[in-house]
Amino acid sequence: MNAFSLESEVRSYSRNWPVVFDRARGSRMTARDGRAYLDFFAGASALNYGHNHPVLKRALLDYLERDGVTHSLDMLTAAKEEFLDEFGARVLAPRRLDYKVQFPGPTGTNSVEAALKLARKVTGRQTVVAFTGGFHGMSLGSLAVTGNAAKRGGAGVPLGHTWRLPYDGFADGGFSGLRLLDAMLDDSSSGLDLPAAVIVETVQGEGGVKPAGHAWLADLAELCERRGILLIVDDIQMGCGRTGPFFSFEAAGVTPDIVCLSKSLSGYGLPMALTLFRAELDVWQPGEHNGTFRGNNPAFVTATAALREFWADSALEKQTEVRGALFEDRLGELAGRYAARVSARRGRGLVWGLVFREAALARRVADEAFARGLLVETSGSDDEVVKLLPPLTATDEELAEGLDILDQAVAAGVDG
Ligand code: PLP
Repeated sequence: MNAFSLESEVRSYSRNWPVVFDRARGSRMTARDGRAYLDFFAGASALNYGHNHPVLKRALLDYLERDGVTHSLDMLTAAKEEFLDEFGARVLAPRRLDYKVQFPGPTGTNSVEAALKLARKVTGRQTVVAFTGGFHGMSLGSLAVTGNAAKRGGAGVPLGHTWRLPYDGFADGGFSGLRLLDAMLDDSSSGLDLPAAVIVETVQGEGGVKPAGHAWLADLAELCERRGILLIVDDIQMGCGRTGPFFSFEAAGVTPDIVCLSKSLSGYGLPMALTLFRAELDVWQPGEHNGTFRGNNPAFVTATAALREFWADSALEKQTEVRGALFEDRLGELAGRYAARVSARRGRGLVWGLVFREAALARRVADEAFARGLLVETSGSDDEVVKLLPPLTATDEELAEGLDILDQAVAAGVDG
């Protein structure tokens, strides 16, 4: 019997990449048959520093070998202390961010649930404004602020207390969601009461690699501050350097009230999430929001090692920005060559999307890439976008190799 047939129909990535992966190092995953694949998926941005980075692995092995605590709910551990020290010193202090740190549970959606719950508790209000195309996770609170109809449909119950607005550029920029929100809040008969919070991604990842303009984000932050609405930035996919700086909102010069962080935080693919918020928002009662797996100490160890290795200076940030310009050029040239089939390329730092006029072609291109040894996924409302998320630590040669394979895959997909 094929062991994998035991797995539920809910499985997804394994359908597009039907090989058994066994080992992984840096930018490559190797299947059991020995074939290596260049990984421009990077665990959906959970592996910004590549697979099994040797410095992180050493820290983890040393910790395990000395019988460091593996599981600790939210007890005090040496591994947590080191992580908090390092996170405060290397991430928060240099950016003058006066955030408290909550360990909400191991995954991204845990961070979003904590953020939504806290915003409602602090303000005593219920509605959260979310944007078209937004993705925030699969638990009920996160689904309620997620745009995608199929994902919301899985909830099986009404998802309420959410007000949806057009994201920057929605419907070719024909509508201003921010002006609409402002006008509706001015009118006591608009039907919209003052929301508790707005939740936003600076670049929508699952929504099809859609970057919001820096000016739009700054306007949103200004509106929130002026109205007393809490601004939640979901930096789960775009944080930890994916767009260049550690936090993706830095480039827009905004300071969110609440930040959701996960994916590449542990740097090693180990589950870990944080919810950060301004100190005066810390109105939680002890134990009011808890969970068994908030103390994943091996993840704290690799997260600490990652902060020391990659965020002691601005070298990685600068390198990612330079590489972003290279991707913009190469993909711009590719999109221009196939203008009849490709409508745009979008991105920032090392997250890029090639937008196809037909969703079926995006799928064919991703399949052709896989056949040539490159892992890329699709995203967007109809999966019309081929999404590139190479490890930030990929070499220049690996980045060029991936872009060359993509070029060939587009040619083959267009022919096919
Ligand atoms: N928020 C964003 C922006 C995401 O991209 C994701 C996952 O892709 C999530 C939340 C949910 O994270 P998780 O799958 O770890 O629950």
